[in-house]
Amino acid sequence: MPTVSAYGAKSATEPLAPLTIERRDLGPHDVLTEIKYAGICHSDIHTVRGDWGRQPYPVVPGHEIAGVVTEVGSAVSAHGVGDRVGVGCMVDSCRECANCRRGEEQYCLAGATYTYASIGKDGKATQGGYSTHIVVTEDFVVRIPEGLELDVAAPLLCAGITLYSPLRHWNAGAGRKVGIVGLGGLGHVGVRIARAMGAEVTVLSQSLKKREDGLRLGASDYRATSDPDTFQQLAGTFDLIVNTVSSPLDLDAYLGLLATDGTMVHLGGTVEPMPVSAFSLLSQRRSLAGSGIGGIRETQEMLDFCAEHGIGAEIEVIAAEQINEAYERVLASDVRYRFVIDIATL
Ligand code: NAP
Ligand code: ZN
Repeated sequence: MPTVSAYGAKSATEPLAPLTIERRDLGPHDVLTEIKYAGICHSDIHTVRGDWGRQPYPVVPGHEIAGVVTEVGSAVSAHGVGDRVGVGCMVDSCRECANCRRGEEQYCLAGATYTYASIGKDGKATQGGYSTHIVVTEDFVVRIPEGLELDVAAPLLCAGITLYSPLRHWNAGAGRKVGIVGLGGLGHVGVRIARAMGAEVTVLSQSLKKREDGLRLGASDYRATSDPDTFQQLAGTFDLIVNTVSSPLDLDAYLGLLATDGTMVHLGGTVEPMPVSAFSLLSQRRSLAGSGIGGIRETQEMLDFCAEHGIGAEIEVIAAEQINEAYERVLASDVRYRFVIDIATL
């Protein structure tokens, strides 16, 4: 069993630190990837800090993984040595349930195996991408197209698909007005993708500090949610609002921004319950929905779409020893717009 270098958390209260983990021996359908870059998703922070409950420590986070294949199992046909590949939030699923069969493994009825802090089919806790190598079954490895650099592609494996999937599902496109709440890791990629799909995009951010960036990324309007006028001026505007904020929001206020038949999709991993008035929904046949990442087939489609439209994440590349500091900056909404770890510094 190969031992590899990693960076992870030994408990919810200790900072992340260097450690070593074991990867499984290559099975016939496995792909060994040398990780070059790993994005820092806010979910990594929720997980290691225990926001979402007890974790199988030590936890090595990281589900925005980009690298190069260095070895493949005897039966692997989808990937070869030297291929540029990505691994996102899932590394396996039951493959038999109705959702898996239609390519929506993220909604696997038996529960997908997540890239880290999940119990794999071998009974062991999975460990993520803040590490030098990862072994994943070929069906959960995707191809990173030519034209997308690995560093800017890494965040697409979670942030990209998490926005692409609901934008497609709720038909973001020409003639549709889309509001994106929160210009962080998820939000900024969402602006680019929604714009490329042809939608008219408005960013709803806490302040106007990042307005220029929002417009450059493709938004045609940028509003501060700290300004009560925003909610009056934009009332009844959007066909779709995508909420990337993990803190609780005043849902009634945001639902009031939806046009008739509009949908607000919640993506943030908010732990606290959020009250909602029935009248915010029934008065204009509005919907409140949620969406989780996307399936493997759709993840490949998203990467191909991003390559075709020249969409990568806007990143700040950091060394492994800066991970804890980066976490604090993400928590302070001081991220422009995704931290990506250069795994060579591990
Ligand atoms: P992020 O980079 O921290 O971005 C979140 C943004 O939300 C911030 O940049 C900030 O933007 C805004 N925000 C933060 N605190 C706020 C508050 N108290 N009130 C209003 N706005 C606030 O995080 P991320 O990596 O994009 O992830 C966002 C959330 O999505 C996390 O909870 C994460 O776990 C979750 N997530 C869900 C999925 C899924 O499948 N559904 C996938 C990945 C991540 P402004 O400064 O512009 O206001
Ligand atoms: Zn994520």
